Amino acid sequence: MDPSTPDDQKPLNPGDEGPADAPGVGEDLCPACLGAGSVGGVACALCGGTGKVLQGIGGG
Ligand SMILES: [Zn+2]
Repeated sequence: MDPSTPDDQKPLNPGDEGPADAPGVGEDLCPACLGAGSVGGVACALCGGTGKVLQGIGGG
């Protein structure tokens, strides 16, 4: 009942520009691992191993 404690949110990855539910933000393939989630056998640091990043798609 306390909106100031969003403990349900997971931390953003370095490649994320904002939370998934934010307006103008959408999932996109990670440019570093191209959706693989890992680079050279190591978890991708940009997307955190998800293979996706959240990018602003609002443009302008
Ligand atoms: Zn990645």
